[in-house]
Amino acid sequence: MSEYKSDLLIIGSGPAGYTAGIYAARAGISSLLVSGAQKGGQLILSSEVENFPGFADPITGYDLMERIRQQAQKIGVHIIDDVITEVDFFDHPFVCNSEAGNCYTSRAIIIATGASVKWLGLPSEQKYIGHGVSSCATCDGFFFSGKEVAVVGGGNTAVEEALYLANFVEKVYLIHRRHSLNAEHIMQKRLFENRKIIIMWNNIIEEVLGNDDPLEVTGIKIRNIKTDRVQKLAVSGLFVAIGHHPNTELFRRYLRLDGGGYIATNGACGETDIKGVYAAGDVCNPYRQAIIAAGCGARSAMEAIKYL
Ligand SMILES: Cc1cc2nc3c(=O)[nH]c(=O)nc-3n(C[C@H](O)[C@H](O)[C@H](O)COP(=O)(O)OP(=O)(O)OC[C@H]3O[C@@H](n4cnc5c(N)ncnc54)[C@H](O)[C@@H]3O)c2cc1C
Repeated sequence: MSEYKSDLLIIGSGPAGYTAGIYAARAGISSLLVSGAQKGGQLILSSEVENFPGFADPITGYDLMERIRQQAQKIGVHIIDDVITEVDFFDHPFVCNSEAGNCYTSRAIIIATGASVKWLGLPSEQKYIGHGVSSCATCDGFFFSGKEVAVVGGGNTAVEEALYLANFVEKVYLIHRRHSLNAEHIMQKRLFENRKIIIMWNNIIEEVLGNDDPLEVTGIKIRNIKTDRVQKLAVSGLFVAIGHHPNTELFRRYLRLDGGGYIATNGACGETDIKGVYAAGDVCNPYRQAIIAAGCGARSAMEAIKYL
């Protein structure tokens, strides 16, 4: 167990956290970054990232985040592999305790804990994440141009993902366990009018099917919960769009959250209701893109630097 004191504590090692660290270190601020259990954040799950500027060829999410970690360390960011389990924002300086029994005291904090994808929880789904199973059409849809894919979910996100994918794939199956959608009326209208989208009502996914070498999705097995009919759909991709879970439990006692549980900030990211506490990336921003999270990290660090 150790006591750490710094001007700035950054919680999270995704694109938002690392970028915040880079900006703080270059400004000469004494800062610490606590990485959390997922070093590099959720992008490490992606087998190919093509929309992060600076790379002419696709890069794996793991390699991209390793490079950003190395850049941060080279610039002088002090990274500690630990998980924050408790925070106290009532007193100043702020105090955070951790899984390893460490106590972190700081004058400012940047929360960059992200929002976890809600997966279906099937072992076969986990096996193919990054190899045909995705949670982000904007990120991965392009890889499925001209192919058939499935989207699972029934809310706005699922409908948006299906409509987005229909722009360049051959066919989209929208798998939904109910017989009506939760999406906005206008979105539903667009969906029903789109001839490339086939809605499989009352169906659940039982298994993701695929090959081992190379690791790739070749289909899904779905079951109609009204009739029990099981069928296989030959799709190359499955987009899971059943929601996200913002990692904000630790902070809900202190900070205002929006209806979805995301940290409410002044603008898309940055200042929270507590002076000296900032939020950056997916934990407060609905766009869920690495470059946007990185930009938010930079913005929060610049605000924290001004505050300090
Ligand atoms: C499979 C997949 C593929 C994707 N592909 C792309 C893509 O191609 N392009 C793109 O732009 N985006 C992509 N995304 C989205 C992108 O990964 C996110 O938008 C981005 O990672 C968000 O960055 P972040 O820093 O806000 O949070 P995250 O990357 O989610 O990082 C959160 C960090 O907080 C840490 N943390 C959480 N709780 C604690 C705690 N209690 N204590 C300490 N640390 C904690 C975690 O360990 C983690 O390091 C993809 C996402 C997934 C899941």
